[in-house]
Amino acid sequence: MPEHSLTRADYDPVFVPNYAPAPALLDRGEGSRVWDTDGREYIDFAAGIAVNALGHAHPALVEVLEAQAAKLWHVSNAYTHAPGIALAKSLTERTFADKVLFCNSGAEANEAALKLARRFAYDRGESDRFEIISFNKSFHGRTFLTVSAGGTEAYRTGFGPVPEGLTHLPFNDLDALGDAVSDRTAAVLVEPVQGEGGLMPADPVFLQRLRELCTANGALLIFDEVQSGVGRTGWLYAYEAYDVVPDILTTAKGLGGGFPIGAMLATDEVAASFVVGTHGSTFGGNPLAAAVAGKVLEVVDDPAFLAEVRRKEGVLRDRLAEVGARHGMWSEVRGMGLWLGCVLEGEWAGRAGDVTKAGFEAGVMVLRAGADVVRLAPALTITDEEIEEGVARLDDALARLS
Ligand code: PLP
Repeated sequence: MPEHSLTRADYDPVFVPNYAPAPALLDRGEGSRVWDTDGREYIDFAAGIAVNALGHAHPALVEVLEAQAAKLWHVSNAYTHAPGIALAKSLTERTFADKVLFCNSGAEANEAALKLARRFAYDRGESDRFEIISFNKSFHGRTFLTVSAGGTEAYRTGFGPVPEGLTHLPFNDLDALGDAVSDRTAAVLVEPVQGEGGLMPADPVFLQRLRELCTANGALLIFDEVQSGVGRTGWLYAYEAYDVVPDILTTAKGLGGGFPIGAMLATDEVAASFVVGTHGSTFGGNPLAAAVAGKVLEVVDDPAFLAEVRRKEGVLRDRLAEVGARHGMWSEVRGMGLWLGCVLEGEWAGRAGDVTKAGFEAGVMVLRAGADVVRLAPALTITDEEIEEGVARLDDALARLS
């Protein structure tokens, strides 16, 4: 069947039914606008779930991608290449980390981080140190280990038995930490700002306490910055805002600006536990992905660019507060940077899905983060005018809903 004659109705018969995409076929994008195959335009406040950091078809990314595509796409990890080395240097120079391991997604980066933490303990002769502590409502991916570490029971249901040694604690609860971190803990895995869990920032004292407990007990602290990373919070990585340094950090989503790539960053000492043959990935950090990600980092990690993200956060936050108050749907807008959650209240609680649907009908793409939070994670390059227009469309959608 020729591609141009396909419609949304052709989706369900051929896809495993674990997604329910919106009723249109998206065709092209530019900046923070997207068009479907019928020519309808949408303002994109979703950015592919916090992925398209520089929006759609950013000229600098298109240029790098086209140039690399004409040279070398893929070689496997038996060989190396300049875009990969340049990206690893760029990441280590810009962060606490000394070493980088590339993969293709956030889940893979976390899978690698958890494996590395257990291997690190094993290499030190501590074979009883295999426990991994993570938090309720956290999200770390959908592989067997990462979904088991994740804090949403429903995502684990039916996939048991879950791997041994995983403990879930309440997020931001200092008392509940108790003596949970011990000489059996390989790692504590935490999102500095919970994304899927409802745009919930960690309390600074909570992250500081985790750092202290890990250091005191010889456990590793892993920050999952898959969603919070690459400028999303107005900082290159959120750990900088908290001034708490992990041993391992995972990054993906925004890193490739839409080209799949993930990375695990680690200190020299910890990274030494992955030697030749311990772990691997066929595609991870191939020349195409690395070239694009290198450009994304170069654009985002600029003080003027990050200051703009923080300024636009203020614009978006104010507009969302106004709209929420007008419709009586939310009074709290929380989050950090261009990553905000509107917390539905009263009779609107639980209806985030209805809002995303109504938004799409009104020409604006928004996300949910659980049933109670409407999440916005636009491109970091979004303009003030696109913010105004998108919020106006959201306003229309909410008026229609209420
Ligand atoms: N970690 C966090 C914090 C995430 O938000 C996500 C995805 O939403 C993941 C991990 C999983 O990333 P991926 O879907 O690329 O595997």
